[in-house]
Order: sequence, then structure tokens, then C-alpha cells
Amino acid sequence: MSSIRILSDRVANQIAAGEVIERPVAVVKELVENSIDAGASRIEIEFRNGGKSYIRVEDNGRGMSPDEALLSLERHATSKIREAADLNEVSSFGFRGEALPSIASVSRFTLRTRAEGWEHGTVIKINGGKLLEKKECGMPVGTVIEVAQLFNSVPARRKFLKTDSTETAHITYNSRLFAVAHPNVAFRVLEGGRTVFQSPACENLRDRIAEIWGRRLADDLIPVEASDPQSGLRLHGLTAKPGVGRSTRRELVTLVNRRPVDSRTLGFAVLDAYHGRIQKGRYPPAFLFLEIEPREVDVNVHPAKREVRFRNEGSIRRFVLGAITETLSKASETASPPRSNPVKREEPPAPKVNPAIRPTSKEASPQVSRPSPGPVSASMPTATTAAPEAKPAEAPNRSEKQWRLISLLRKQYALFDGPGGLIMLHIRHADQRVRFERILDSYQTSAPASQGLLIPIPIELEPLASEALQSHLELINRQGFRIEEFGRNFFRIEAIPSWLGQDQAETFVRDMVDLLRQRGGSRQKDELIWESVAKLAVGGSYRRSDSLSEAAVQKLAEDLLLCETPHTSPSGKPTFSEISWGEWERRFGNP
Ligand code: ADP
Ligand code: MG
Repeated sequence: MSSIRILSDRVANQIAAGEVIERPVAVVKELVENSIDAGASRIEIEFRNGGKSYIRVEDNGRGMSPDEALLSLERHATSKIREAADLNEVSSFGFRGEALPSIASVSRFTLRTRAEGWEHGTVIKINGGKLLEKKECGMPVGTVIEVAQLFNSVPARRKFLKTDSTETAHITYNSRLFAVAHPNVAFRVLEGGRTVFQSPACENLRDRIAEIWGRRLADDLIPVEASDPQSGLRLHGLTAKPGVGRSTRRELVTLVNRRPVDSRTLGFAVLDAYHGRIQKGRYPPAFLFLEIEPREVDVNVHPAKREVRFRNEGSIRRFVLGAITETLSKASETASPPRSNPVKREEPPAPKVNPAIRPTSKEASPQVSRPSPGPVSASMPTATTAAPEAKPAEAPNRSEKQWRLISLLRKQYALFDGPGGLIMLHIRHADQRVRFERILDSYQTSAPASQGLLIPIPIELEPLASEALQSHLELINRQGFRIEEFGRNFFRIEAIPSWLGQDQAETFVRDMVDLLRQRGGSRQKDELIWESVAKLAVGGSYRRSDSLSEAAVQKLAEDLLLCETPHTSPSGKPTFSEISWGEWERRFGNP
């Protein structure tokens, strides 16, 4: 044959590619699905630069004959019988037989494949849809597909790709989902030459989850099994024990007919089932497989996204909600409370009422309850003596400036009488600001206040998390933590900073690791990293949930005025709002 042939429908392929292969992870997804469809028991995925420069998916599936190999690159060529009842409909509808030609039309594409019973394999090379070469090659039975320079010929597409680390995160995450969906297939994922994760074929889902997410998470899950003969629905898998929650929904995984999907209906049904069994704002880890008649799934959704819709959302929701609720209530009945009361486990610590709260009085010199933050802030009344270290001189000055608490209002506000006007304080925002700065101050301290744990807390992390923790361990341990590694992916928390409650230690460390991972790629200064740790420590589920006494609120106001940036919470919301006496005068008509 001539060495260069234009594959049919090159333009159509490029258009389809633009629509469906949105980003590198979509290529990985299509290739891995093909490998699974080909009956592979071992799949290896390698990529570089978030998949932009290189992707390889290799399997030991049934492979293709030379003719099949060529045919697979023709548009709408598919060996798969497609009927309404075909499971593949769930995610591949509208894209049947289009994946390979589409990918090949926007990359440097190499297919190597050998079918059982053939002495040689076939290698086919394509560049931007143009067939460059087809010849025999030696290889074991199976298929290797390499995709290089994705979208190089389509700059408009390439522009939409995110940073390497974002694309990498997508590929890694989705590979894990595939591994969970198919526990009996061995997976290995490499970024460049480095193994990101690997897992041998596993007997069951729990082992697979332990392999990928760590034994500790696997142990926190209980089995779900429910079916409804009438509707043909079945839900099975593993779901969080009551009280077990995570700060992100990354580990709340739903699959429909073994395809990982995003479904609001499923997500909400699961969250509803955990209502009251898990702290607000947290997500239960769960790996839930819904089996459903394919025709009950609305496939009229963009295939590149993992979204699905159900014909009858209401009945799916009720079924899933019912199944999990039942699982959880059974678990609660039979639960022995080993570590602690499971429902309590995730709750914030008891309010720490500061015994040193002083009633307002003219003499009350606000003792600085923390190490000096360094230079006196501009917003603070400064002593006329220009010596910033001259604390005693400031004290009387500051107490003059003090706000006097009039009343607590609606549990979240406090009204103060101040020298400049009437002040309304937002208690939570103020509390967040004060705690935030306290944590930041510890950054500057050489030996931040730390509390040793009588019983060190062991934690197991998944490999990526473990790497993130390791690479920041020095910083963390300088800040009042003492976390030691004592085995592959195993750590022990031995001490925590004094600003952290003991019963929150483990959850916080896990959340902190999540955070470090999210910031992972960008090389940031320690200070900035520490700032986001401090933000984490005062926001979300770590914000104060108890109500403060009047004395505590008075103290809070004093502490707030000592802050460097007293006017806003760490996330930029106002901490207080003042209406000046002048404004009151105006309002009452006094010039
Ligand atoms: P579809 O999967 O919808 O059939 P694709 O374009 O993804 O379309 O693949 C086209 C055909 O190529 C498949 O139907 C299958 O016969 C063959 N094929 C693709 N990948 C593999 C693989 N890894 N192993 C064996 N056959 C494959
Ligand atoms: Mg396919």
C-alpha cells in the first residue's frame, strides 16, 4: 500500500475529537474502557505532562488482527454489538466507534496490537489523522496505544487545557475510579517513569480500596447490599460507617453499571442518608455500585462528562436513600464503640472556655495572651512613645479604647459601646480572625506551644497523600506538630500545636494533607502554605459551633483589637461594623 493514506472522514474525526476528547483524561478514559471491553486482566497507564505530551495505555486483552486494527481506526467501526440493552450505553452513547479515530485525528498516534493465534502483531502510526505506516511487529497478545502531542495541531483546543498538575490530578483520580470499578483487573499508573499507584488484581472491593486509598479507609466502610426485584435496581458496595466523614467528596464514588459517574441524584441521596450521622459540611466516603436497566438511564448527556440522568430520578433517589439508611441504622444498632462513640468522633471539641476571662473594667489591662506579633499594627492605638516594644505604656491607652459589651444579639452578634461609636461585632468572623492570627504568630515563634499526646495517633495515608505529607513534614513539625513516619504510608501523630483540639487532631491532619496535596504542584513559600493551613484550622468544620458567654465575647473583642488585620475574617468577611457617634448626631439632626 502507499505509505501515506488519508483516513476517511478526517475532518469529521477532528470535530468529534473536539467535542468529546475535551482533555487528556478523556483519552485515558476511552482507552481504558476499550481495554476493559477487550477482557484485559492487566492495564498499565503512563502519561507525561498531564497527558498533554504523552499517554500510553497497555493491556493484555484479546488484541486485534491486522485487519481489525485498521478497521478500528475507521469512523463508526466497532466490534461491539450495540443494542438498547448494552451496558456501554451508559457512557459511550453517541460515541460508538468514534474514540480511536477521533483521538488519532488530533495527535501522533501509535497502535500496537496482537490477537490470539497471530504470529505477529501490527503497528499502525498516524499523525493528525494521516496514516503514516502499518507494519508487522513482535509483541505479546494485547494492545498498546500511545498518544503523543495531543491537540498540537489544534491550538484552539490546547489553549483550554489546564496546567500539567491539574490534568495529572484528573488522570490519576480517574484511573483510581477505574481501578475501583474493576477490582479484578491489575492496574499500574505511571507519571513519567514514576509509579503513581499500582494494585494487583484484588479479590474484592474492600481489598482494592485498601490498596488504593489505604487500609484505614477500607476499615471505615461497611457493606451495602440492596435490591428491588420490581424495578430491577440493585445497590452494592461499601459505605462509610456512621460518623466517618471527609472534607471533600473525592471519596464519595458512585458507579452506574460499573462506570464511574457524576450524578446529583445519587450524591444527594447518599448525603441525605447520612444526615445527622455525620458532621455538617463533611462527606461520607463511599463506593457505591448501582445496577440498573440501561434504558432507565438517560444517555442524552455529553459523553465526555461523567454525568448521567435517570429516567425516574425520584425512584432512584428513594431506593438509594432507603438502602443506605437501612445499612446505617443496622450498623448503629450493632456498633460496638471501639475508638469512641462513632457519632461523636467527628464532632468539634468541647468549647474551651478561657478561665482567664476578665470582666470589663477600666483597670483591666488586656494581658497579651499570645506572644507578641512583632510590630504593633497600624490599626492599634499606638503609644506616643515611639518604642514599639514599650508594652506597658500602651496598656492604659488601649483600655481607654476598649469596647464595652452591651448585649449579645441573635447568638451571632454582639453590640458594643465604643469610643468612636456603636459597634456590631460578628462573633464567628471575629473568632476566626483571632484564632487565625494566633496560628500565624506561631509561625514566627521558634518553639510554638505544643502538646504531646499521651497516646500517639497512628494514621495511614494513601501513597499520594503520604508523599504530600512527607514533603511538608519539616514545615509542619516546626509548627508545633510532631508527626513521624514509621513505615510505608504510615505516620504517627505524637504532638500537636496548642491551638488544635486533641480530639480533632487526626481529622485535622488528614484535612491538612488534603490541602497540601491540592496545593501540591505549585512551589510555594512555607509562609503561604502555613497561611492556608491556618485558614483551614478556623474555617469550615473547624469553626466554632458553640455559643460564647458574655465574658468570652468581651475577651474576644479585646483580642480582636490586638490583631494585625482586625477588620476582616481570614476569608475576607467583615468582623465588625461601626456606626459613629457623629453619624448618630446627624441622624438625630444635630449638626
Ligand atoms: P468502541 O469502543 O465504541 O467500539 P472505539 O473507537 O473505542 O469504539 O474502538 C473501536 C474498536 O476497536 C472497538 O470496537 C474494538 O473492536 C477495537 N479496540 C479498541 N481498543 C481495543 C483494545 N484495547 N483491545 C482490543 N480491541 C480494541
Ligand atoms: Mg471505545
